[in-house]
Amino acid sequence: MTLLVHDVTLTYPDGDDRLTALDAVGLEVPAGTLTAVIGPSGSGKSSLLAVAATLVTPDCGQVVVAGRDTGRLSAAEKSALRREEIGIVFQQPNLLASLTAAEQLQVMAHLRGRPSRQLRRRALELLDAVGLADKADKRPHQLSGGQRQRVNIARALMNEPAVLLVDEPTSALDHDRGAAILDLLVTLTRERATATVLVTHDHAHLERMDRTVTMADGRLTEPVAAS
Ligand code: ADP
Ligand code: MG
Repeated sequence: MTLLVHDVTLTYPDGDDRLTALDAVGLEVPAGTLTAVIGPSGSGKSSLLAVAATLVTPDCGQVVVAGRDTGRLSAAEKSALRREEIGIVFQQPNLLASLTAAEQLQVMAHLRGRPSRQLRRRALELLDAVGLADKADKRPHQLSGGQRQRVNIARALMNEPAVLLVDEPTSALDHDRGAAILDLLVTLTRERATATVLVTHDHAHLERMDRTVTMADGRLTEPVAAS
């Protein structure tokens, strides 16, 4: 089990009260499988990813990433774990305007101090894997929205994470480009054996996912018949 979220509750301050964003949520994601999370806006989907990413500490419950119980780690150990084992893709690519596609990837892994020739080779291999072999030297303004999101995904894989967390990657894309991104995520999950969690509004491709769960008012339910 590469990602395990066990009985997690997360509340946010809400005036004098607390708002329950996650209510006793559990999720297990084996390596090489993709779980889709659907559900209405405000139901807690992004909060679940934030907890799984160890960016937010839950009020209670357990998050285990690549066999490490994150509740037992110091802040420094947690950020090292995040850097080495967790790839995160948000809705907006947040690419640096001045860097080429390959450089966006190379700066990521620099933190780990690998030789730059090796980083370049890995960046090119990943850009090839996301269908951008010929765009390595293009800057963000020379890429389409779908291509930028592919760079974003490739970047998240640069450190060979065990866990890949993806939040609504297709919401800024048209239907066909969105479908191609979901296809790509399924392929990459298999090839790179990541435990992938994908929050999506796009219900068209759920049959390609290994599992779909629904978030409603901070609670997870399943199964949902793909429609
Ligand atoms: P979703 O991704 O499904 O739209 P979120 O996880 O973003 O849902 O939000 C779940 C609930 O938690 C919502 O009511 C939202 O307003 C609230 N919320 C999310 N982030 C914060 C925050 N940083 N502080 C306070 N409330 C938050
Ligand atoms: Mg969200």
